[in-house]
Amino acid sequence: MNYAYIIAAVGCVASCYAMLNLWRNRRSPGAFACMAMFGCAAVYVVSALRAQPTELSLQLSFLGGALISPLLFIAVKDYTNARIPHWQFLKPLALYVPLTVALIALFKDDSQIFQTLANEADMALRIDKIRAARQGALAPTTGLIYGFTLLAVGTAIWRLFTAPHQKKEMLAIIAVPLMVIAADMSYYFQGFLLFGAMPTPFAMTFGLTLMALTLYRSRIFDLRPIARSTLIDNVQDGMLVVDEQQRLVDYNHAALVLLEASEERLIGRAASEIVAPEITELLQTDAPIREEIAIDGEVERQWLEVDVTPLNIDSKGRGHLLIARDITARRVAQEALQASQKALEAANHQLIEQSVTDPLTGLRNRRFLFERLQQEVNRHRRSGSVLSLLVIDIDHFKQVNDTHGHPAGDRTLQLVANAIQEVIRENDVAARIGGEEFAIIAVDTNPASSEVLAQRVCKAISAADGNSVAEQNIQLTASIGVAYFQRGNADADRLFSEADLRLYEAKNQGRNRVVCGPVPDPEQAAV
Ligand code: GH3
Ligand code: MG
Ligand code: MG
Repeated sequence: MNYAYIIAAVGCVASCYAMLNLWRNRRSPGAFACMAMFGCAAVYVVSALRAQPTELSLQLSFLGGALISPLLFIAVKDYTNARIPHWQFLKPLALYVPLTVALIALFKDDSQIFQTLANEADMALRIDKIRAARQGALAPTTGLIYGFTLLAVGTAIWRLFTAPHQKKEMLAIIAVPLMVIAADMSYYFQGFLLFGAMPTPFAMTFGLTLMALTLYRSRIFDLRPIARSTLIDNVQDGMLVVDEQQRLVDYNHAALVLLEASEERLIGRAASEIVAPEITELLQTDAPIREEIAIDGEVERQWLEVDVTPLNIDSKGRGHLLIARDITARRVAQEALQASQKALEAANHQLIEQSVTDPLTGLRNRRFLFERLQQEVNRHRRSGSVLSLLVIDIDHFKQVNDTHGHPAGDRTLQLVANAIQEVIRENDVAARIGGEEFAIIAVDTNPASSEVLAQRVCKAISAADGNSVAEQNIQLTASIGVAYFQRGNADADRLFSEADLRLYEAKNQGRNRVVCGPVPDPEQAAV
């Protein structure tokens, strides 16, 4: 029994097993190239180990051997996803160049190498002739085989350091080709033989078995598609893939839940039948977009955050990936927050209003009046705008209280406030500054106009209908002091005390009247 046959059989079985394994996962990156490599290696091993080779078996062995290392390199590159510039262009070249060189050597076989080798019955002499042919007509193919082996090993070493999770696989990919190279070199340079034959196919068989076992144990090609589909099915975001015609190509479990769709014959259906029209509209995009979309259901509104990413193959739009997540809870919380912010702002506004409003009459209060007076005085200083202040006091108001009671007095004060409000202009400010005392800031009003205004206020108060408050007729009158600025002497306190002085003058002169006058200029007073 020839050991070589047993070894050839082992190599063949290992390769077939690995190829079957890879066929199931042929869509995984690198799996197809890896499968082809096992095929070529099996052809090489079986043909190379024949005791009585024919010309054809030697040619097949040569051709299979020429393609092993380019295929290994392509498999390693694709599996590890190593970045190689212009790979799309280089990948076919990596296969066509060694194939072409090997075919040229086969068909342009001037010295009938393969026939001579087949006719050589003595194994030792045949091996010597093989070595001579490899130095001659077969040298370019041998060079390419070595070159691609080194490229594959180099890529694996590089990934060993840059992709730590693929360490075991990379070590196998580095060790196996190096072992085969070592066996080949020991024969080529030292004439080392195994069982009277070249050691290269033996090393190749051993390597193939090792790689097949690695495939079996680590299930490297199985893992990626399984991991990906598990990952996609376990994420909480709904994912849909649609093609150019907007037909559903793929989806995950979360998408079914999110869209409340049933799984029955979903693939191939138009996106418009499955998702809301607002989402279908997004599928027109040729750039990635993110939108928040409201979908009004029968019971409540659902909010979705939708990412749409165009899927391009060879720079051509082939469909879209749609990722949707339910953000209803977030939106509801956001809206509640906005509503409470609005309510807070309104309450704040109300609070501010209350702090500057007189609760009895609804006019501005004393604090507001003095703040505004200061602002207007400053404006007067800057622009020289005319400014008057009216201070109003109801005459003998104590009698109203004494005669009709305090509540009637209160209602009378409200009537007075209304009367004042009706005669002033929109820009003027009316305030209740004390018990039965009121004040008006008359902006952009010259002295003559402010006196006219004061007379109108006086009349309006006298005309206020006291009958609506009490049975008996309440006759109201008011005394008003008016002070106004002349240029260059602006001071809020002085304006107020001047107006107050005029008010007392009005009281002293017999009440129910208006007394007007400017705020005296202190410089002129000094002169
Ligand atoms: P004069 O003509 O000198 O101004 O006489 P008068 O009675 O109006 O003046 P006095 O200052 O003596 O009295 C003011 C009265 O106004 C005293 C008080 O009873 C009354 N009064 C002050 N605040 C209120 C209020 O909020 N409601 C009511 N009903 N009366 C008020
Ligand atoms: Mg008073
Ligand atoms: Mg009074």
